[in-house]
Amino acid sequence: MNKEKNLWQTVLQQLDETAKRINLEPWIHQKLQKSKRELTVSIPVKMDNNSVEIFTGYRVQHNITRGPAKGGIRYSPEVTLDEIKALAMLMTWKCAIVNIPFGGAKGGVVCNPGKMSEEELERLTRRYTSEIISIIGPERDIPAPDIATNSQTMAWIMDTYSIDKGYSVPGVVTGKPIAIGGSEGRTKATGRGVVYTLLNTLKHLDLNIEGRRVVVQGYGKVGSVVVDLLFKEGCRIIGVGEIDGAVYKADGLNINKLNKHREKSGSVVGFKEADIISNKKLLELKCDILIPAALENQVTEDNASRIKAKIIVEAANGPVTPAADKILKEKKIFIVPDILANAGGVTVSYFEWVQGLQSYFWTEREVNLKLRDIITKAFYKVLEISLKKKVPMRMAAHILAVNRVAEATRIRGLYP
Ligand code: NAD
Repeated sequence: MNKEKNLWQTVLQQLDETAKRINLEPWIHQKLQKSKRELTVSIPVKMDNNSVEIFTGYRVQHNITRGPAKGGIRYSPEVTLDEIKALAMLMTWKCAIVNIPFGGAKGGVVCNPGKMSEEELERLTRRYTSEIISIIGPERDIPAPDIATNSQTMAWIMDTYSIDKGYSVPGVVTGKPIAIGGSEGRTKATGRGVVYTLLNTLKHLDLNIEGRRVVVQGYGKVGSVVVDLLFKEGCRIIGVGEIDGAVYKADGLNINKLNKHREKSGSVVGFKEADIISNKKLLELKCDILIPAALENQVTEDNASRIKAKIIVEAANGPVTPAADKILKEKKIFIVPDILANAGGVTVSYFEWVQGLQSYFWTEREVNLKLRDIITKAFYKVLEISLKKKVPMRMAAHILAVNRVAEATRIRGLYP
């Protein structure tokens, strides 16, 4: 993987360019360049073989001016403090773009979840929770699932936090199972939001959805939902990929059969009705729409010139590097940036938090309709800025987000 710039340098550069363009006051610019809080913890965990392993974990709150900090927790061997800081800043922008009253946070633990048992993951999660317990809470900082964490992980966090407080505190996390206060529609919300931004993009470009050739990298909580929904919309899903490889079929994969294969084998690779290709080749396939839904830094200076898609919707966080962005701009590829495209997840997390506070729960239909309204409104606001200021959608999204956070900062003023 090309690491031409780490994600932290990338997001700082984006902030600097935005600050310059909107003439941001230096003190607000400097404030936004730094995280509000960065906590590094060591997490001792008893492993199944009775040895003790010490893991490193992070929780970073970038900004809490517009409300409590909000952001996922990821488990991966690749986690670094810089990455978590960058993702926390992106969460600040994401919440501002969809105009929900949250700031940005992110957490992560350096571990290899694929090699750990369920029991080890539970002990890791509970101890990590207890190490960061002083800075999280329904009014402070509300974690959610991200890479390799899920609703079960959130249930363990909620339980550990509640035991510490002595009463149940469902609002400490979102993305919980429905049985303990989760929201209908949350598991599919990020993927659904990605699809809403794509539908709006196609409308703007005056293109039909039917028969469009789509490539999706990543077949996890986000990618698999995107594929399902687009398959139902009549798209031809010609390629999908996961960590261990990708599959390709020129006239479109049968997604129902692919899902059955994946349920049995745990991966899309090995699906008999398709050719196996590398992840590198997957991104370079001739298609209409490319949806990176796995990791950051996937489209780089190295492969950007070989990308053949007309539209890229960034379901993952930071999949396109700034150097690649420039090349894709010259190729006139329309990019829906991550902070807009994948904001559906945090939007329904907000719904979950609101429903939990009111102890009044909505139907999935209500959730999906409200989600579509918010994402569509955000999309057209970003598009309006993009057209008016003649800037790409990414810069337009940053202008909207940084302006909203700056306005709140100005109004609140500087203490003391
Ligand atoms: P996940 O763990 O459920 O799935 C990740 C997928 O990516 C898996 O299919 C995995 O095999 C694949 N993958 C991992 N490494 C890869 C590699 N090197 N090459 C190709 N594929 C690889 O994670 P997720 O929740 O679906 O998150 C995916 C992306 O979406 C991340 O960037 C995450 O930050 C972002 N995101 C997720 C949410 C959410 O609600 N889950 C919300 C916003 C953004």
